[in-house]
Amino acid sequence: MQYLLERLNNLLHMEVRSFGLKYGLLPIQIEALTYLTRCNRYSDTPQAVTEYLGLTKGTVSQSLKVLEQKGFLRKQQDTQDKRIVHLAPTTMGRKLIEQSYPTKSFASARATTKSLPEGKLEEILRELLREMQYITNRKTFAACYTCRFIEPHQKKYLCGLTKKPLSEREIELICREHQFPS
Ligand code: SF4
Repeated sequence: MQYLLERLNNLLHMEVRSFGLKYGLLPIQIEALTYLTRCNRYSDTPQAVTEYLGLTKGTVSQSLKVLEQKGFLRKQQDTQDKRIVHLAPTTMGRKLIEQSYPTKSFASARATTKSLPEGKLEEILRELLREMQYITNRKTFAACYTCRFIEPHQKKYLCGLTKKPLSEREIELICREHQFPS
């Protein structure tokens, strides 16, 4: 099974690489930008991108600089804490990621393998991912609505960790502070 996952990853990686080349971007730069379009306001910092990608600070910092120079993201100082810098994908950056996922070959292969129930397949892959993150002691970076800190609040939601309200959109995003219920 590991071999199959590696082959799939390899094919996807090749396609993302050739897509990125059209815009002068490396796969790591596409990955960083993808992450930034999916993460919440607590997770859009250079440190969080570094943790998510599992790469060195220097490599990630170079990639973020390229994305900024090409106009795919911009830096924004935190309004409360001036030491914190948020990385916001621009409209152009978001459009680019919309075009790159799912890759053309994946979408086409998925359309011809409809007999595989999507929910079941995702469930197995998610479980595998969760176990591997647990074994390797990595952060989960999962969607907020699955976090043990989320609480109902006035017909909406509240982050029990930060005590800040969360919108419907925010609970779909991934978070560096996320933890599954034990
Ligand atoms: S509830 Fe969990 S995932 Fe959501 S913002 Fe709070 S810590 Fe992050």
